[in-house]
Amino acid sequence: MNPKFKNILHSLGIYHPLQSQYRNFVFHVKRLFFKISFFSYKGHGFTCNVCQQQYFRFVDDWPTSENKNALSTHNVIAGYGKNIICPNCLSNARERLVIAMLQHHINIENKKILHLSPEKNVYQYLQSKSQVDTADLVPGFYKNIDKQIKTEDATAFSFADQSFDLVVANHILEHIPADLKAMSEIYRVLKKGGFAILQVPYSETISVTIEESLIENPARQSALFGQKDHVRIYQLNDYISRLEQSGFIVSKISYKELSTFHKNAIQLDETFLDIKKPY
Ligand SMILES: [Zn+2]
Repeated sequence: MNPKFKNILHSLGIYHPLQSQYRNFVFHVKRLFFKISFFSYKGHGFTCNVCQQQYFRFVDDWPTSENKNALSTHNVIAGYGKNIICPNCLSNARERLVIAMLQHHINIENKKILHLSPEKNVYQYLQSKSQVDTADLVPGFYKNIDKQIKTEDATAFSFADQSFDLVVANHILEHIPADLKAMSEIYRVLKKGGFAILQVPYSETISVTIEESLIENPARQSALFGQKDHVRIYQLNDYISRLEQSGFIVSKISYKELSTFHKNAIQLDETFLDIKKPY
């Protein structure tokens, strides 16, 4: 979008509501398109853990030409590949992994939960079980998911210490320049014994995390990090060290150990991080 036009929409306060409407429109167009080609997915082998439909394959999703070089060069596990999007509810593999963990690994009955940059399907599942606060630095994007969403900076929450049993910030920290500050804020607002779901794109083949915290150049960010608003690609063990440095206890659950959930078409080869605040 032309930056001048974007600024006008911003000054009128309608940029984010329009973005939100646009996303809704794209969602419905995609859904209609997949409905027409539904027969080419329907079958057995995979079950969507959001809408319970069964398929022999999900829709593939590949990165754009601007993003693909950085992701393939560094072997980044970033939510792309074969069997990513449900042709019925349009849930993606990242959401289905989190939902599988919420269904089978983390108790969320009657808890207090903070969900940052809420994804629709994860939010609806959390809300069916617990009390959920949602928040984002730019909440306008998410008003169609939760009208009550709060404006919050993840590096300086307004929430009191030990307010939540669970914080969900799925694929968020790679956007935040001061990620250590955000990790320590998440730690602060969690109750003792609480969980955090903080999946990020990562690589196991790079030797160090690649980052430029102060970068503000979408084209370069795509070329370097594989998305126009990312500021880093984490090296997996370095990411875990940063979480541990913030006080968390972290253990890896490998893709192999997640075999029960392969039928839900989760991301191929993705490790889930079990992240706890100690008692
Ligand atoms: Zn589905």
